Amino acid sequence: MAAIAALVPVSCNNSVQEKRMITVSILPQKFMLKKIVGDNFEISCMLNEGNNPEAYEPSMTHLMNIEHSMAYFCIGYIGFEDAIVGKAHINNPDLKIYNNSKGINVIRGTHFSPEGSHDEADPHLWTSVANAIIISQNMLAAVIELDPANADTYTANFNAFKTELDSLDSYIKSKLADKRSAAFLVWHPSLSYFARDYGLQQVSLEYEGKEIPIDKLKQNIDAARESGAHVLFMQREFDSRQAEAIGEELGVKMVKINPMSYDWEIELKNITDAIADN
Ligand SMILES: [Zn+2]
Repeated sequence: MAAIAALVPVSCNNSVQEKRMITVSILPQKFMLKKIVGDNFEISCMLNEGNNPEAYEPSMTHLMNIEHSMAYFCIGYIGFEDAIVGKAHINNPDLKIYNNSKGINVIRGTHFSPEGSHDEADPHLWTSVANAIIISQNMLAAVIELDPANADTYTANFNAFKTELDSLDSYIKSKLADKRSAAFLVWHPSLSYFARDYGLQQVSLEYEGKEIPIDKLKQNIDAARESGAHVLFMQREFDSRQAEAIGEELGVKMVKINPMSYDWEIELKNITDAIADN
């Protein structure tokens, strides 16, 4: 621990910094970064459980944590990041900004933005094991740049995590080999990358990011029924009473998920098990 403390840069504002800090946007990033850095960095996360990334206002504490961070790790394509990063730079000119999603093949046309565009990049990049590997590789490169003295430790940690991710991928593939149906229902399309990775069909119920208008309701329910899906995923930050009513009408199983959780691996397993239903 003494070796770490010695590396802390001297702060000019008298605040005691016990550890160097990295700020990330969402909890799955924190989970992945923790796997790589262990206790060598403190990790501050902007979004907590249940926060909706598409309607988020950062707290004062979070903004202050950015000011005391060595680096900000963006996940990419979530609206608040640009604003935060722009402002943080004014108060902390030394802040290094890294884009964790660099190199990910982004999906377009699945996700409706509040501004009404339907061509934006789908921001839910983290609900994919393949993407998690790219995100972790980007994190590793950034962390080695921030703390080159511990490069070997970070590389070893990354390799161990990569093995975990490979076995999670194998688990998902073997479970889904015998799945009940390739289609699943979800209110908000937060599983586009998961669907792409494993050849599944995501049927999103919401209409242009909102409740379904009455005149579109029948069409929407028919499409959901015709897909052959047997499960409807519900998410508290996006949920709608309409979703529950449609689920009841269709007689499908309703499963609460939380892809924004720190327990990222468990969430992906739960989603897999519900789709496979075997
Ligand atoms: Zn979304």
